[in-house]
Amino acid sequence: MLNKRMVGLGTQRSVIRELFEFGKKRAAEVGSENVFDFSIGNPSVPAPDAVNETAMRLIRETDPVFLHGYTSAQGDAASREKIAASIRRRYDMEAKADELYITVGAAAGLCCCLNGLCNPGDEVIVFAPYFPEYKVFIEGAGAVMRLIPADVEAFQIDFEALSDAVNEKTKAVIVNSPNNPSGCVYSEATIKKLSSLLEEKSAEYGEPIFIIADEPYREIAFDGTVVPYIPKYYKNTLVCYSWSKSLSLPGERLGYIFVPGQVTDHELVYAACAGAGRSLGYVNAPSLFQRVCAECVELTSDISIYETNRNLLVKGLRDLGYHVVEPGGTFYMFPRTLIEDDVAFCEKARDFNLLIVPGTGFGCPGHTRISYCVPTEVAERSLDAFAKLADFYR
Ligand code: PLP
Repeated sequence: MLNKRMVGLGTQRSVIRELFEFGKKRAAEVGSENVFDFSIGNPSVPAPDAVNETAMRLIRETDPVFLHGYTSAQGDAASREKIAASIRRRYDMEAKADELYITVGAAAGLCCCLNGLCNPGDEVIVFAPYFPEYKVFIEGAGAVMRLIPADVEAFQIDFEALSDAVNEKTKAVIVNSPNNPSGCVYSEATIKKLSSLLEEKSAEYGEPIFIIADEPYREIAFDGTVVPYIPKYYKNTLVCYSWSKSLSLPGERLGYIFVPGQVTDHELVYAACAGAGRSLGYVNAPSLFQRVCAECVELTSDISIYETNRNLLVKGLRDLGYHVVEPGGTFYMFPRTLIEDDVAFCEKARDFNLLIVPGTGFGCPGHTRISYCVPTEVAERSLDAFAKLADFYR
């Protein structure tokens, strides 16, 4: 008898993957230039040249036995020191190499935190709309996901619902800002209010409630928006960072967990994350790219195209009558669908070669995710298809 949950996870086709396959089929029929694929969150701009140059220099100049060998489980010490120095400099906050644990992307970082923190039956709070893998990761850690309904007016936090949901089983709250799929950035006021609520609740239940700050989009923020650095507001924050999006390296699988020294029982929490990494079989994150990312830690790819696309699509869609909350970052937006049934709406959109993802999978029906990491001329031309879709419902 196989593990049913795993068989289910391995065989269920995700809506996004299904759309992607449909897009390939459609492109063969009508030409790829006529298909507007807004389904997948794969960065559309290349990593900066410095990434390849650094990789090649390291390959040329470093002893290969060392470069391609195992690193310590928490990551190469010199690389962790470089990352810690960058955190100190950028966020004006204490950070030590021994507070960093380098991971196989943010996904592994989240799994290490969740497995390290949670006991069976613990609850982890997630705000809708949310990255669907959270449910898989939380349940994989033996915990239960508690979903807080979306604040659809601004995609900030519904504090009344949050306050009602926290209880003695709450172990952690996942905060993802800038957010996939809404693109919204939690304001400083939201983070302050969240911090004081969780401080009160931690005191009431006599156990820390952790914030897991999932931050793969931290640098992709527009109009000079400052994304609050949550450990500066809330002591018991674990940061899961990734170079997948800001440096356009999703396939290299690199990120880190930062467990600041201020966290209650810091050494035990760090050990629990490391123990989870061990138990999940990660061994260590890819060795070459630990060094590359540490050397390129302050760089990003040219993310200005995402802001150009955001401006063009927000204006274009609003002119067509769509309701869109303006994203402050990422390369996603999450407009309302023109009918209540978002699944039917996205199905109809296919008739106009528009590939957009129903909000239902993100815990927020009545919306659709547009992933606009595409060339700007594709975003521009797609407005005609969005117009035809709107006309259909008029
Ligand atoms: N968290 C969010 C919100 C994401 O959107 C993604 C990837 O799309 C991840 C985590 C996982 O990122 P990584 O490639 O770093 O594992």
